Amino acid sequence: MDYPSQFDVIVIGGGHAGTEAALASARMGCATLLLTHSVDTLGQMSCNPAIGGIGKSHLVREIDALGGAMAKATDQAGIQFRVLNNRKGPAVRATRAQADRVLYRNAIRAIIEAQVGLQVFQQAVDDLIIENDTVQGVVTQTGLRFKAPRVILTTGTFLGGKMHIGLTRSAGGRAGDPPSNTLAERLRELPFRVERLKTGTPPRLDARSIDLDSLEKQWGDTPRPVMSFLGDRREHPEQRCCWVAYTNERTHEIIRAGLDRSPLYTGVIEGEGPRYCPSVEDKVQRFADKASHQVFVEPEGLTTNELYPNGISTSLSFDVQMELVRSIKGFENAHITRPGYAIEYDFFDPRDLLSSLETRSVAGLYFAGQINGTTGYEEAAAQGLLAGINAALAIREEAPWCPRRDEAYLGVLVDDLITMGTKEPYRMFTSRAEHRLLLREDNADLRLTEQGRKLGLVNDERWEQFSRKRDIIVSEQQRLSRTFVQPGSTAARSLIGKLGKPLSREYSYAELLKRPELDYSDIAALDSDAVDHEQAALQVSIQAKYAGYIDRQRDEIDRVRRYEGLSLPVDMDYLQVSGLSNEVRDKLIAQKPETLGRASRIPGVTPAAISLLLVHMKRKK
Ligand code: FAD
Repeated sequence: MDYPSQFDVIVIGGGHAGTEAALASARMGCATLLLTHSVDTLGQMSCNPAIGGIGKSHLVREIDALGGAMAKATDQAGIQFRVLNNRKGPAVRATRAQADRVLYRNAIRAIIEAQVGLQVFQQAVDDLIIENDTVQGVVTQTGLRFKAPRVILTTGTFLGGKMHIGLTRSAGGRAGDPPSNTLAERLRELPFRVERLKTGTPPRLDARSIDLDSLEKQWGDTPRPVMSFLGDRREHPEQRCCWVAYTNERTHEIIRAGLDRSPLYTGVIEGEGPRYCPSVEDKVQRFADKASHQVFVEPEGLTTNELYPNGISTSLSFDVQMELVRSIKGFENAHITRPGYAIEYDFFDPRDLLSSLETRSVAGLYFAGQINGTTGYEEAAAQGLLAGINAALAIREEAPWCPRRDEAYLGVLVDDLITMGTKEPYRMFTSRAEHRLLLREDNADLRLTEQGRKLGLVNDERWEQFSRKRDIIVSEQQRLSRTFVQPGSTAARSLIGKLGKPLSREYSYAELLKRPELDYSDIAALDSDAVDHEQAALQVSIQAKYAGYIDRQRDEIDRVRRYEGLSLPVDMDYLQVSGLSNEVRDKLIAQKPETLGRASRIPGVTPAAISLLLVHMKRKK
């Protein structure tokens, strides 16, 4: 019997982009084939075993809201959970989980294997079948041909991958894996703009050789956060401690003395590295006045002694790596289990993509993940999900879908990539979104799950839980605005401690909840009808407290949409518009857009710049 060779959608690569792409396509009813180097490395974390963090957890929750796998796998694999920025506003709060690398991979593999309509096949893809600028399928390393009208490429750091440790170079997609050179060469023949980027990873350490007692301890949060909207703390495996260590002046001297054999500083590596996740040699050079840098010491898992020293990513020679590691307090006798290294790889200019992530020049071919110039598991997974959705929509002959910038970080990510491109590995931050208060991690389901259900991504269990939560929020908000506390009542007296003074008049619970001193738990303590639903209670609280700001952001979005056709005078003096960056100003002066809408579509002219133009035009009136 023949192995099936005809599919609706083929996904190449089983990393973070590829697994979400394949799952989305199959969930939407398409016969999907996932081709990857090794079934054992499905969902493999190439670098830091951690999911989430600032800007990134927002993407993870959005993937989850659309039925994706990343958050669920994190709940099954997370060995430490924290909420970063917990004391700051809800827009920038971000859940981060340290994950057990093996448990994470197992969780992803189990989700993939349980997905109806999805087949996995272990083979490297060496070629694409393209006829009349339209993709038709793929050819594997052993010459097998698989046909599909939609193909999603998610090959991460593997295309033309070159790894560096000092001046020693080797070919590889990441340590222990082969590069995809044949496919890379084939892709270079196609009309895509290809450039090089680089990223790096630290040496790993044997915990038994580290004096952990001399390091600062860092435990997870209590109560423990969950990553998925459907998450349950009881799923979490055993929780572990992390530690903090510090580099010192001696570490920095060792690094400086080793730069003459650094591939970064001798010009061997040409690709640009991640600005926000720099190598330790970059940090020492760029921030020469800093006497010390933090190193977060994180366990790689429950069943291994390996530690991940987050903050000393390096491609210095191995002898320099040894010396620099051992100069750190607590690491004096450190045994390195794997050397740190840098990797250079091909990426494609994402300006050659449509917002569906389909390439402009080859119909039916989609790019997602690190090959679009991003860095990070979360950014990759989010793109994979979107490419999977759009490949499936195309099979159904339906219009493509991409959320707007005011609907999702996924919309911000794709819009940034396809309009501005990138010269360095792009990572998500909350600062990239102009409508941060609307795009919180806590409300990703309220923003996206209905859309996900319409697309066919959200199963009945998620839909029922979501609908129940949404209904509880609405009914509780109504109840709180019609339930009152009278001055002098027992309830009012019990609030004096928190408010610092007695109530001067009758207040509804909804009004009281707006007070910064009070939280939903304070209301619940007074009121036996309060809801016993953690996520709904959080929503009721945030929506009450930030209602004014949220309404203002919604108005601003409406206003920007309304002003799309606003004329900009041809002789407009952009030097008078305060707050514009030089880059944006130069582009506006060069292109003289006729309307605000046109200005907004000039690559590099950000939505924030459009708001500044709008304010300027209003002032002039
Ligand atoms: P990957 O996770 O790389 O997955 C690609 C998949 O495609 C793999 O399964 C591979 O086997 C498969 N594949 C490749 N070619 C073929 C082929 N021809 N046929 C079939 N299958 C193929 N991110 C950060 O956020 N911070 C960091 O500090 C950081 N450091 C990193 C350091 C290193 C050394 C590396 C390698 C990566 C680092 N990353 C870092 C990036 C992070 O690993 C990626 O962003 C993320 O894994 C990208 O996901 P992806 O799905 O696009 O690709």
